[in-house]
Order: sequence, then C-alpha cells, then structure tokens
Amino acid sequence: AEKLRIDKLLAHMGYGTRSEIKKAVKQGKVTVDGKAVKDSGLIVDPAVQTVAYEGETVVYRDVIYLMLNKPAGVISATEDGRDRTVIDLLEPEDRLLNPFPVGRLDKDTVGLLLLTNDGQLAHELLSPRKHVDKTYEAWVLGDVGDADASAFRSGVELDDGYVTMPADLAVLEKRQADEAEGMKSLIRLTIREGKFHQVKRMFEAVGKKVLTLKRISMGPLTLDEQLAQGEYRELTEEEVELLR
Ligand code: URA
Repeated sequence: AEKLRIDKLLAHMGYGTRSEIKKAVKQGKVTVDGKAVKDSGLIVDPAVQTVAYEGETVVYRDVIYLMLNKPAGVISATEDGRDRTVIDLLEPEDRLLNPFPVGRLDKDTVGLLLLTNDGQLAHELLSPRKHVDKTYEAWVLGDVGDADASAFRSGVELDDGYVTMPADLAVLEKRQADEAEGMKSLIRLTIREGKFHQVKRMFEAVGKKVLTLKRISMGPLTLDEQLAQGEYRELTEEEVELLR
C-alpha cells in the first residue's frame, strides 16, 4: 500500500478540508497508533498504522466501486453543462474518491452502471478487444420474432455501415402496445461490443423501435434488483473479485 500525508488521508475520507484537519491535529483529535499527532504533514502508512479521529478508527481506502441503478434523465458523465449527471446522485462522501461511470448509458436508458475510480479495471471492461458481455432488456415496438433473432445472430448492418458481432436475442413477453396499433415485445439482448446507441440502432436495422431500455448485466456483474432507480450500493468484495 502507499504512504501519504495524514491530512491528505483524512481529507480523502471526508474529515474536512486540509485547514480544518490542521486545526483538529492542533487540538489533539488525531492519533496514530494511539499517540496524538503533532504535525498534519506526518507521513503514514494506512496499511500498517491505525489512524483515529476523536478516538474513532479511520478506515482508509483509495478505491471505490459502486453499482448504480441509473434512472432515466441523467447523463452518464462526471460533468455536464445542462443536465444532472450520475455523479450528482451520489452522497458527498462517495464523491470524494472521484468515481466515474464505466462506459455510458443513454440519458433515457436505465439500469446497471458501474462507477469506480479504478482506471485499470474500467479500461479492461471497456476494451473493444475484451468483448465483455452486456445484457439489456427492452420493450420494442412491434412483434419481435425468429427472423430478428437470426439477423442479430449473424450480425446486422447499422446506419453507418458497421456490421455488428453475433448477439443473442430472446423474446420474453408480448403485449398490446399502447403507443400504436399492434404489439410490443419485451426482449433480452446480449451484445459483446459497445457502439454508440448500439441496441437502439440494431433494432432500427431490422425496422423496429426501442421504447424503453434497461441494462441488467455487464460481464459478471448483475444489477441488484433491490436497488430502486437512482439508488446505488458498493460492490461486495466477491463482486470486485469477479471483475478482476
Ligand atoms: N444501447 C443503446 O442504444 N443505448 C444504451 O444506453 C446502451 C446500449
């Protein structure tokens, strides 16, 4: 593990600004291995030393992994001039370690979005060479059937001429569409690449329109159905292991 200044450590963990922490150190509120710290620039190794603030042990971590059930209407980015972003949904203490979304869901897409500050992991999940599975559920206007499944299995040509890799399509349910005459179909689609608006454009390629889109898994990670839209939680250790 890495060593760092104690004021930086405490600031990272949400104990205040550097100057507030300096003051707390002067007041004797900060200890290392039970001894009061005198210098807020003290270098500590959180892996072997115990830092405490007002007697309470400070658990240090420098990576964060969050699973968000993204709601519609927010942008998958850290900043946006106009709209709310997924970062705005986080509690202030969960923003301290600067997590960012791993890949993008469209503004109107809901479901599984991983947020982390682990750049290496994000890179691997997003690498076009890794072909990480992404599974979506969608309501699609029209009667989705075997012809669509076989088109998706062989690959369809998108509006820019790109031909998609084999994808697995299953139809889960059909209903009368409120939006139009005829049917709408609930489908599950697994793709192994991540082109811009890929799911919507694949359905366009077969003449159909996606009404609602939800991501339910990415690689080994599955959306926790306990999470309402807009809610998030930390990944468990097991989930982080699966991703590695
Ligand atoms: N495909 C889309 O069209 N939109 C998304 O948000 C994700 C996949």
